[in-house]
Amino acid sequence: MATLGPVSRDETVLRGLVRAGVDLFRLNLSHGTQEQHRETLRRVRRVAGEENCHLPVVLDLMGPRYRLGLIPDEPRLLKPNQEVVLGREEQHADLPVDPEILEHLQPEERVLIDSGLIELRVESKQGDRVQARVVNGGPIKTRKGINLPDTDLPFEVSEKDRSDIAFAVAEEADYLAASYVGAASHVEAIREVVSAAGGRIPIIAKIERKTAIEKLDEITVAADGLMVARGDLGVEVPLYTVPVLQKKIVAAGRLSGKPVIVATQMLESMIEQPRPTRAEATDVANAVFDGADVLMLSGETAAGKYPVLVVETMARIIQEAEDYVRQNNEPPKLQPLGPVHTRRTYTLDSVDPTGAGTDVTDIVSAAAVYAAGQIGVRRIVAFSQSGFTARLVARYRPPSPIMAFTPDARVARQIQLIWGVRPFVAEFQVGSLEDIVNVVERELLAAKLVVPGDRIIILMGHPVRERPLANLLRVHLIRQL
Ligand code: PEP
Repeated sequence: MATLGPVSRDETVLRGLVRAGVDLFRLNLSHGTQEQHRETLRRVRRVAGEENCHLPVVLDLMGPRYRLGLIPDEPRLLKPNQEVVLGREEQHADLPVDPEILEHLQPEERVLIDSGLIELRVESKQGDRVQARVVNGGPIKTRKGINLPDTDLPFEVSEKDRSDIAFAVAEEADYLAASYVGAASHVEAIREVVSAAGGRIPIIAKIERKTAIEKLDEITVAADGLMVARGDLGVEVPLYTVPVLQKKIVAAGRLSGKPVIVATQMLESMIEQPRPTRAEATDVANAVFDGADVLMLSGETAAGKYPVLVVETMARIIQEAEDYVRQNNEPPKLQPLGPVHTRRTYTLDSVDPTGAGTDVTDIVSAAAVYAAGQIGVRRIVAFSQSGFTARLVARYRPPSPIMAFTPDARVARQIQLIWGVRPFVAEFQVGSLEDIVNVVERELLAAKLVVPGDRIIILMGHPVRERPLANLLRVHLIRQL
């Protein structure tokens, strides 16, 4: 996934990124105007049409971010052990901050400024003036970001996020990324705003706060995907815990069949240089080994000097790592699906008249992966309204490629977020099981993805007309048509 920005918004670079291996794009709503993003979004859709591919766009909400107010004599140097007063802008305190911060900060809590480079510790509070002592000093400037890892802040969907959500609904964004969520209720709050705006957009919860780590299980249930947002996470929790947390977050997503994005500083040095560091190349490969669905580029493609080269570089590293995994793969360990939200999850509300629930779909998906390992199949095909079955198959990272047949172009785009699944839009005006087999066979032969004599597995819901979740596995030998 590539973040689009000033160096990559034009159509030539955009096309270059797609040809170099980008499967999906991110627009960071913390920067730029809605007008700009609308234009970029439409350009992405145009390029997708011309390149004949599905290119989803993730709109990343700014979330409740705090910043310093105006520092008139910037850059002002804060020295270790110095006492400072935090207050409202009009109080002319040493450090002007948002009144909400003053309300909730408590003694002993940390105030981190400028990505955690500067650290203060609160000593006392008088009304809305907060006394703090500098632990780590440095220069401070107007509008630098503030993180409060110890403070219990209420979560409210800001006016800016509300306006951006309405924009996302109007433009039919494929995913929203929710910044700074700390609990399942925060994801639900955003989902309610989406719903009130008349939309249905799946939500990726960015895991970047200490409380989000503590409530990872409930957030995984509430969200449609997760992002290991290592930038802010590395400020909010001790940096040395981030590698292990990355593994835990990826594992939580895999257990519940929710896609996980690993983000931030993956090839950071390529913002300025044409080659990454050895450590960065290893980090990219390790994210693949951890089992991430998606690796994200931020400044590298939004504002760097080599946006296309960085994608080519990342694609090569991913390919090499995936080849290694494939060659050294142990048979997947089958494990029951973790908790999923069966009611409110965006993708699941079209079902389920037969009583076959997620557990049945999980069993047939696991059986498909087991069978693919035992008998060798060319493709695993999930005939799916929503992509749910494809997600459950993908969580095992099977050796056979996964194809998801869906009638809906938007679902086809959303499926791009899932590891190893190729979406296929096919109208299924089908009445019987044999109709499904015929559609799949015809389309795969036409796309030269199978040849007669190949064995494939098809997962589908039966009775077909009622469109239940997948509850049936069929092993099919491709015929000469
Ligand atoms: C992060 O903090 O890693 C992240 C992806 O969030 P943002 O780029 O929006 O700060």
